[in-house]
Amino acid sequence: MYQHRATKTKAGLAAIAFLLITLVPMWGTLHAWLDQENVLVEKAAGSDAMNLAVAFDVHVQSVVRFVDTLTQDLREHAVKDRNDFGRIVKEELVLYGNMVAQVALISPEGMLVYSSLAPAFGAVDLSGRDHFRAHRDNPSKDKLFISKPVFGRVSGIWSIQFTRPVIEGDKFLGVVVVSIPMSFFSDFYKKINVGANGLIALVGMDRVPRAVASKDSGAINFGELLLLKSAPYFVKEALPEGLYRGVSAFDGSESLTAYRRLEDAGLVVLVQLSPEDYLMSSGKRHRVLIFCASAVTILLLSFALLIYATVWQHLKDAKALKQAHKTLRELVNVDILTGALSRSHFLEVLEKEFRDSESCGTKLSLILIDIDYFKQVNDTYGHPIGDIVLKQVVAVCCAELRAHDSFGRLGGEEFGVILPCTDGASALGIAEKLRLAIESSKISTSKGLVRVTVSMGVAFALPSGDTPSKLVVRADDALYCAKQAGRNRVCSARGNDDASQVTTMSTNDS
Ligand code: GH3
Ligand code: MG
Ligand code: MG
Repeated sequence: MYQHRATKTKAGLAAIAFLLITLVPMWGTLHAWLDQENVLVEKAAGSDAMNLAVAFDVHVQSVVRFVDTLTQDLREHAVKDRNDFGRIVKEELVLYGNMVAQVALISPEGMLVYSSLAPAFGAVDLSGRDHFRAHRDNPSKDKLFISKPVFGRVSGIWSIQFTRPVIEGDKFLGVVVVSIPMSFFSDFYKKINVGANGLIALVGMDRVPRAVASKDSGAINFGELLLLKSAPYFVKEALPEGLYRGVSAFDGSESLTAYRRLEDAGLVVLVQLSPEDYLMSSGKRHRVLIFCASAVTILLLSFALLIYATVWQHLKDAKALKQAHKTLRELVNVDILTGALSRSHFLEVLEKEFRDSESCGTKLSLILIDIDYFKQVNDTYGHPIGDIVLKQVVAVCCAELRAHDSFGRLGGEEFGVILPCTDGASALGIAEKLRLAIESSKISTSKGLVRVTVSMGVAFALPSGDTPSKLVVRADDALYCAKQAGRNRVCSARGNDDASQVTTMSTNDS
């Protein structure tokens, strides 16, 4: 179960690693690219807005200069040719009729004394108007005044008043007025495409718009519009021109505004573009790209799922194979009947222990065991009882041995014991202990208690010139001697090469 989960985890990690090295760079690059494109589009929009603001600025300045020249010219005539003033105005208006809504003269008391629109009018009191009061209150200051948009009582249209004082010596003789309809500005700028949500505006430093051109300029109330104070257009300390990204002063929408201040005229030109407009085409492209990236992501996810399934299957197969190898190895290494080590594995272990004892300088001993007259056991009780006896002999021996000793079945009723870190004397002691344990054990079977004895040959590894096979031969010879000496005894090999020289450890003739 645990292995199953671990295999799943490995397959999952492989799939996640695949997704990480494909999806993260793809989405990262796409994100960075879209961001970069937005920055570039924003830059281009800013530069477009600023170019328009420059053109607007130049146009407004030339209009202001022109209207001021006309105002000063008419003022001269108002002083010199007062009686002929009406005719002169008419002549001028023939030339500039579409641009000038009205020419008027205001008396020093603020009464309208002449209007090009209504030569015969009743008493019109303009003394409360800014464009009159600005001059009356500063009679010595001969300065052009550009008014907020006013709804003309005589003209009946929204217009901007360009005014100059009429002065003779120190004497204030009134005000000459040239009215320019707001539509002169707005109609012209409506022709310029600033997008569905953009606008062009001419605003006074008094924060009141003079003209606004947009798709929806009809909705703007010129009299009451209060522009944002935080916007840098009106901050005299701020640069006289620049870009402002923030909430629009006109409609509260997020916008990009290019502005230029005309310090002399007390005006600001604004070109406001909406991100909704200038990001529209790149936004469409971004949506297509994100759609494509999402499709690729789905494909990669499916592929990752496939990787997960494949890796999982592969790992499962590999695990099963490993397990099969392990089982096979155990089958080869362990004797099925008794659970002792198989002959081949026992000899492998002996080789290893022999090498280890050589490199570490420790002792190593080997005991060979053979059950005495085992054929008779089979003959007397039958083969199955013989099997039980074999198993019991192994169990008795293993119970007596240490954890690091190795016990193997070398053939029918022959066994071997490898005793690492054990010299010859100790090995003899252990062998005798085993012999006694077997001799004294009563093996319970279906055919009653069975008792057996064993003969043993003990040999120990010599300090030099020895080999595992020589060791086996010496132990086998010692076992032969034990058999020859009457069985149920332990014999030890005494010399290096002379395997015939053995010592009988014990005799217990029965
Ligand atoms: P000795 O004292 O000289 O060793 O006499 P022995 O009878 O033990 O020796 P022998 O080699 O004549 O007989 C060994 C017997 O062990 C013969 C064989 O049938 C029996 N044997 C070998 N393997 C098995 C086994 O797996 N199970 C059983 N029940 N008997 C086995
Ligand atoms: Mg035998
Ligand atoms: Mg035997």
